[in-house]
Amino acid sequence: MDFSFSPELKMWREAVHDFAAKEIKPFAAEYNEREETMWPALQKGGEQLGLLGMSVPEAYGGSAVDPLAFAVAIEELGWADGGTALVVAAHNGLGCAPIVMFGNEEQKKRFLPRVTGGQPGRLAALALTEPDAGSDLKGVKTHAELEGDHWVINGSKMWITNSGDADYIVTLVRTSPERSSHSLSLIVVPTGTPGLHVGPPEKKMGLGTTHSHAITYENVRVPRENLLGEVGQGMYQTLQVLDGGRISIGALALGIAQAAFEEAVAYAKQRITFGKPLSARQAIQFMLADMATEIHAARLMVYHAAWLKAQGKPFTHAAAMAKLFASEMAERVTRNAIQIHGGYGYSREYPVERMYRDTRLMTIGEGTSEIQRLVIARRVVSSMAGLF
Ligand SMILES: Cc1cc2nc3c(=O)[nH]c(=O)nc-3n(C[C@H](O)[C@H](O)[C@H](O)COP(=O)(O)OP(=O)(O)OC[C@H]3O[C@@H](n4cnc5c(N)ncnc54)[C@H](O)[C@@H]3O)c2cc1C
Repeated sequence: MDFSFSPELKMWREAVHDFAAKEIKPFAAEYNEREETMWPALQKGGEQLGLLGMSVPEAYGGSAVDPLAFAVAIEELGWADGGTALVVAAHNGLGCAPIVMFGNEEQKKRFLPRVTGGQPGRLAALALTEPDAGSDLKGVKTHAELEGDHWVINGSKMWITNSGDADYIVTLVRTSPERSSHSLSLIVVPTGTPGLHVGPPEKKMGLGTTHSHAITYENVRVPRENLLGEVGQGMYQTLQVLDGGRISIGALALGIAQAAFEEAVAYAKQRITFGKPLSARQAIQFMLADMATEIHAARLMVYHAAWLKAQGKPFTHAAAMAKLFASEMAERVTRNAIQIHGGYGYSREYPVERMYRDTRLMTIGEGTSEIQRLVIARRVVSSMAGLF
């Protein structure tokens, strides 16, 4: 068993880290305060590192990094700014991945090269969640009917990340009335299509540099050939896409936790109470030791899930475990980072306050912690031997 990174992966981590340290982290506070997307960083990251095409093959304008390099990049971006990391993770893992995985040659050529540069209006989004259906996607009501050569889509979606700046929105629709795994399909909806209305950004708790919107579809007509794969495969396709997305949410949570931990260590070394720095107090040292240990455990789990994916091995359960553990770990770490900062930790002047708010989404988006436990438990209680 070899836990070391290849020289290429080391260089990649350094390149993304240096970029994030220079182009993202110093501006994170002001952009989050203004709730503004970091377009300059997204554009530079697109041009210099191919960050907006990480899940896209080179033939369609992407940079096609492997799943471990992808996880490492999202971790580094999360370390610099959770919201910007989420823009990149959702764009690649949710918006581009369904077309890469299930699109035909014509669809890949038509949709992917337009969205790999990181320009405003050229992101990709995936619309699954609805006002009455999130965890339980079989309850999706947005429906598509075939009329001649077009799908006509009606319904509404909630919380769709990147949709306000998207070139297209891959949309999960009902193509048959019964409540079964075979009644849903994925259809690519270009954002200029008449009848597609994207609402204002939702007012969120954190992640100010990423935006999520409600969407309504009013007789939205898209060509028949915008369907991904076969009719009725949407649920199956979505679950596969979410498996990959869960590794990146785990990586994102890991990056935020790492950043909060670094802030906590630095603060504990310089803050003097009762004549000694906080870092000399065992109570604080134990908190830092627990943080370091949990971050390390989460990192191993996230990298392991990404490695399984890269090897073409089953990774559903490893991804669910990595997301579950990393996202809940990041809540504990950011919470304790605030604790170590005392009153300053509660102030917007210090970044740990933002990290605590940002990380709160990670146990909710792309499958809540409860849904991850369902996925893991199903496997644990089934008769299949071994988890990996
Ligand atoms: C900032 C943000 C960005 C998002 N981006 C996107 C996006 O890009 N695309 C998209 O499609 N969606 C997106 N979402 C939606 C997100 O994926 C859903 O919020 C999430 O899947 C949970 O669904 P829900 O909100 O409907 O909660 P519900 O499904 O109503 O669940 C509510 C609570 O009940 C629990 N629960 C539900 N079922 C069970 C059960 N069987 N057993 C035990 N507990 C259960 C859940 O874990 C949760 O705690 C985003 C959400 C946010 C907040």
